[in-house]
Amino acid sequence: MIAILSRDCSLKEKADVVRSLESEGYRVTVGVLDDEIVISVLGVPRLGLEERLATMPGVRETRRDVPPYALVARAHHPETTRVKAGGVTIGGREIVVIAGPCSIESEAQVRSIAGSVAASGAGMLRGGAFKPRTSPYGFQGLGEEALRLLAAAGEEAGLPVVSEVVGPEDVDLVARYVDVLQIGARSMQNFRLLAACGRQPKPVLLKRSPMATIDEFLNAAEYVVTHGNPRVILCERGIRTFETATRNTLDVSAVPVLRERSHLPVVVDPSHAAGRREWVPALALAAIAAGADGLLVEVHDDPEAALSDGRQSLTSEGFDAMMGGVRRVAEAVGRSVGP
Ligand code: PEP
Ligand code: MN
Repeated sequence: MIAILSRDCSLKEKADVVRSLESEGYRVTVGVLDDEIVISVLGVPRLGLEERLATMPGVRETRRDVPPYALVARAHHPETTRVKAGGVTIGGREIVVIAGPCSIESEAQVRSIAGSVAASGAGMLRGGAFKPRTSPYGFQGLGEEALRLLAAAGEEAGLPVVSEVVGPEDVDLVARYVDVLQIGARSMQNFRLLAACGRQPKPVLLKRSPMATIDEFLNAAEYVVTHGNPRVILCERGIRTFETATRNTLDVSAVPVLRERSHLPVVVDPSHAAGRREWVPALALAAIAAGADGLLVEVHDDPEAALSDGRQSLTSEGFDAMMGGVRRVAEAVGRSVGP
């Protein structure tokens, strides 16, 4: 529920509304929407609250028909949130491209890919250490050893690093090595994982589940923020539709919708959407044109031999060529590729 204050309400009236709600045990946020001050009550309001609020001095209107994700809603934070990770900012004018292998396979592999994507203008290095595989017989990742290799390769290439955490019990371990924790598409509604990532300070890259609506996605982000961590980056990576030609259907429309509904930065993963490297650059350019703040792209030095997702991984040369297009589209929409 929200209370919209009168434009001419006094500071005291505003403070009184907040104090009164807090004294009843509610958590509130104060934001600005279309020049009006909006006070949101987090959670479910108890009976009679709306009537009581409506009669308080300074309150112009109360509304119940608002989404329940107040903390991530743009209404409460008109400016796009800038998430800083290891010296790189996501959510500003500069588009950040996060690139690297699906899985970290060896020291030589991750060092070689880190060097090449850095030279092509990537802003961050990705790489999986704990892999959520559809089949229990698929490569599950090298675990902590992979995190060590990723951190070292990132440092050598001058790139902050991102890697996925699959269970709440691994959050501290992964956070020791990475600059950004990735919550994978399959884990988007693992509520204990969301809460655990919310209770630590490293930024979180939250991927949309292929089965989730945009509202469910934003509610998942709200879980992280309400547990104490406002540094969330949203990632659209394709949803499941009737189409089978592509691995998933990239929901490009999610980009403007998420940007309208939420202040959190939005990045797009064209690799898991396309499923084939030939289609990745086109989807990447569409994402930037649609307003994405960044990309998450899989790159491999020898895709045919990759232990996971080789078919959708760009070669280093393919990534370099894609970056040329990304720069041109970024410029066309008034942005640049950073950092
Ligand atoms: C990944 O980024 O390698 C990954 C497993 O992605 P998703 O969770 O989107 O399937
Ligand atoms: Mn992958």
